[in-house]
Amino acid sequence: MEATWEKVSEVLREKIGGQNVDTWFQPARFRGVNDRCAVLQLPNKFFVDWIHENHYDALLESFRSICGDVSQVVLHASAGEQGELFLKPTGRDGALATPAAAPPARRSNLMPHYTFDNFVVGASNQFAHAAALAVANQPGELYNPIFIYGGVGLGKTHLINAIGHRVLGERPQLKIGYFSAEGFMNELIAAIRQSGDRMEDFKNRFRKLDVLILDDVHVLAGRERTQEEFFHTFNVLHDSRRQIVLTSDKTPKDIRDLEARLRNRFEWGLIADIQAPDIETRIAILLKKADLENLELPHDVAIFLASKFEANIRELEGALTRLGAFASLARKPITVEFAREVLKELLHEHRVQVSIELVQKVVCDQYGVRPLDIRSAKRTKNLAFARQVAMYLSRKLAAASLATVGQRFGNRDHSTVLHGIQVIETRLRSDPAFQNHLARLERLIQGEVRA
Ligand code: ADP
Ligand code: MG
Repeated sequence: MEATWEKVSEVLREKIGGQNVDTWFQPARFRGVNDRCAVLQLPNKFFVDWIHENHYDALLESFRSICGDVSQVVLHASAGEQGELFLKPTGRDGALATPAAAPPARRSNLMPHYTFDNFVVGASNQFAHAAALAVANQPGELYNPIFIYGGVGLGKTHLINAIGHRVLGERPQLKIGYFSAEGFMNELIAAIRQSGDRMEDFKNRFRKLDVLILDDVHVLAGRERTQEEFFHTFNVLHDSRRQIVLTSDKTPKDIRDLEARLRNRFEWGLIADIQAPDIETRIAILLKKADLENLELPHDVAIFLASKFEANIRELEGALTRLGAFASLARKPITVEFAREVLKELLHEHRVQVSIELVQKVVCDQYGVRPLDIRSAKRTKNLAFARQVAMYLSRKLAAASLATVGQRFGNRDHSTVLHGIQVIETRLRSDPAFQNHLARLERLIQGEVRA
């Protein structure tokens, strides 16, 4: 059993990185596979929730790759030494959890906790929040579509789910569909492959909705067939005044390779942005989240966390969750001192500045080319590829602007850099082996920093 779990952990490590495995899976006990369910015992509800939300798919895939026919992973929080195992279906993905972690029953595929009540309003999201609320109260009548854009982890998904919950609460007769654009695309592909009735089913399914919520539409970039299908869906819904809710990481104008007619429609209604939250909002979010989790979070610790995790609310919450998990494991009160200790690695990662030079060096070592050459004008295939990878990683790990990246790669202009990065992003989306390859490169670079 242990050998199996070791192998599964190895696969998982490839998928989500060593640090995540060490943090979240090191204390896990594998209890075997029973009736196609792999059972994993975890120290407490924090672990169950966290893994369920962040690593469930990777975990299931890892079990499948080692144990074959596994239909789900049961995440079980130990209640004392020999906690009883209750099985109860929960999430969309069919994951199971103990009663302690079971979210409320769902009437839709909305994320259960992403409600307006749980959303903290501050200067950074005030406008988007007000617009979302207005739409939720009068779906199809005010702003159609509503298009919310902003960076990663700033609350877009939360806000559009809140719209869904509110509409459902007030008009239970309405049909609401929440989908990631990626999911829309995958279903379309499946429908096309099977042809005939499946395509009709697909169309009907989306065109019958009263409210269509589509998350992360920027992934439709360059997907012509999906864009075309979505264009028709959009028109059918919009013509009959049914509400369309969209999010993206950029404005419609900035989504490259988006058909003009679709871009144009995205701009028909209201466009609202979400910015990074200020420190007061970050503190308020922490206190709210702690309250929801029944966690005693002293104010000075909230301030400490809010000052360390600035740019991304998901990471801020991650830090709090980790802190909660460790405090309950160690049965210690949460203090600034304790937080500093438990979050050492995360804080370290934040502090360390990966330089563009370092990225260039590691990437060049990997591909057997010279840093001198990726900064040159030469464009042999091999060099051009190494250069694009290095640009992508410089942007990601060194958080450098496009202009800075361009300048450090032989004074290339902004659009050349952007193109290079997009080539890598496109391939990443469709090529799992390449994802693994880049994850490994990232680890190498991070490792160099820590050494
Ligand atoms: P995005 O979709 O923009 O990447 P999410 O909506 O997934 O971001 O938000 C990331 C996490 O941060 C979620 O757990 C969400 O509940 C939380 N969050 C974001 N904004 C807020 C907010 N204003 N109030 C409370 N929680 C928030
Ligand atoms: Mg999102």
